[in-house]
Amino acid sequence: MTDSFDLIVVGGGPGGYVAAIRAAQLGLKVACVEKRGALGGTCLNVGCIPSKALLQSSHHYEMAAHELAAHGVKVGKLDLDLAQMMARKDKVVKELTSGIEFLFKKNKVHYVKGAGRLAAADTVSIAPAQGGPEQTLKASSVVIATGSDVAPLKGVPIDEKKILSSTGAIALAQVPETLAVIGGGVIGLELGSVWRRLGAKVTVIEFLDAILPGMDGEVSKFAQRILAKQGMTFRLATKVTGAKTGRKVQLSVEPRDGGKSETVEADAVLVAVGRRPYTEGLGLEAVGVALDPRGFVAVDRHFQTNVAGVFAIGDVIGGAMLAHKAEDEGVAVAEIIAGEAGHVNRDAIPAIVYTAPEIAGIGKTEEQLKSAGRPYRAGKFPFTAVARAKCNAETEGFAKVLADAATDRIVGAHIIGPQAGELIQEIALAIEMGASAEDLGRTCHGHPGLVEAVKEAALASLGRAIHI
Ligand SMILES: Cc1cc2nc3c(=O)[nH]c(=O)nc-3n(C[C@H](O)[C@H](O)[C@H](O)COP(=O)(O)OP(=O)(O)OC[C@H]3O[C@@H](n4cnc5c(N)ncnc54)[C@H](O)[C@@H]3O)c2cc1C
Repeated sequence: MTDSFDLIVVGGGPGGYVAAIRAAQLGLKVACVEKRGALGGTCLNVGCIPSKALLQSSHHYEMAAHELAAHGVKVGKLDLDLAQMMARKDKVVKELTSGIEFLFKKNKVHYVKGAGRLAAADTVSIAPAQGGPEQTLKASSVVIATGSDVAPLKGVPIDEKKILSSTGAIALAQVPETLAVIGGGVIGLELGSVWRRLGAKVTVIEFLDAILPGMDGEVSKFAQRILAKQGMTFRLATKVTGAKTGRKVQLSVEPRDGGKSETVEADAVLVAVGRRPYTEGLGLEAVGVALDPRGFVAVDRHFQTNVAGVFAIGDVIGGAMLAHKAEDEGVAVAEIIAGEAGHVNRDAIPAIVYTAPEIAGIGKTEEQLKSAGRPYRAGKFPFTAVARAKCNAETEGFAKVLADAATDRIVGAHIIGPQAGELIQEIALAIEMGASAEDLGRTCHGHPGLVEAVKEAALASLGRAIHI
């Protein structure tokens, strides 16, 4: 039997489940096909959520070990119960993924557990997760939201025992004495931080000259300094050429620009060199859906592929591979399919690294403005001069606001410091509303707040910060 819908969404991650819910809110009859056995995609199951749960737990451990005494809080002998830490993380994941199932029921989204394949532009065949014959669904629109997968590294095969992807690195049963992290991007630094805090000696090996590629250069240098002070070792402009696994892993590394090869030995290795679009088994070739040269599903600005009625959103179309970008694209595509005007502003997508301190950026970096020849004013304010940061004993870092020199419009902001990930959200709104640095500097901000760094940075761009 063939069931008919207005919309079938393939993939139940942040892109897919949000598209399904928004479309249902708009009155469409919607099915969402997910093969993982749980909703929430990479983000809730093996990405954002478990990593943040472990970052929080390991932060508490580090605070108890090194920070609380300065506040006059004495703790006795410290013990790590890693099994409990992992169990708590799993519980957080379970609660949130079942929460999405509840939302599907509430919004009458038909949840189909199985692997979907496009049999035609308006037909999705599903191999049910519990086995049995294929099921066929039809719809006038299909949204591909199948996300991404770990990018492999040649010569370093992931076995999830000693050579790990992020999925293995959020589920270790014991703390490795030494951990080599290949890739100094967000995932490498976050998970590297978790295991360093819990006692591992962490070495980050990065091919480029700096960590956090794509983020503001000044912030990235500052981040490296702080993380090195915390005990992480960095080897930049270094290439990993192979791995041998025995009792430990022997990584062959060599200078990127030529030179002698050497060996880095570690109990565990985390491969965190990026993610690639996941289109396996989707049948895109059969239907003629075009991919771009890097394998992402090619779409126009309305998320429409080259095949009428087939749309794509989230990690599988590339751009910032972030959950909130996927979610916003989910809302936009549902609105477009329902005949409304959905849109995502790519210039106002915050990127956050949940290390301690946090690192966050939005809009243009100074490097991008310089290379575009666009005149701008930069204002910077350090957390050492923020009263609340002093109270909290979290004074490392700064906020930087970038404004167009002619119009004073805010075009970017970059923050490294306590709760940078929360502070950046105000700038997202400012950019969306076309606010100027003057607007931000004249907005009354509550005292004592960490957010005063942002206000003062805006004022600094106009040459009139008060507290420095
Ligand atoms: C360790 C880690 C930490 C991260 N931390 C953050 C963070 O802090 N903040 C942030 O914004 N982003 C973070 N991300 C990135 C974030 O997880 C992704 O950007 C986001 O999940 C993308 O959403 P999506 O819906 O496009 O795809 P996914 O979340 O990848 O969802 C796609 C879903 O489609 C399903 N699927 C695939 N093929 C089929 C098929 N044929 N049939 C049925 N189902 C299918 C998959 O099983 C999957 O569940 C992190 C990622 C990782 C790995």
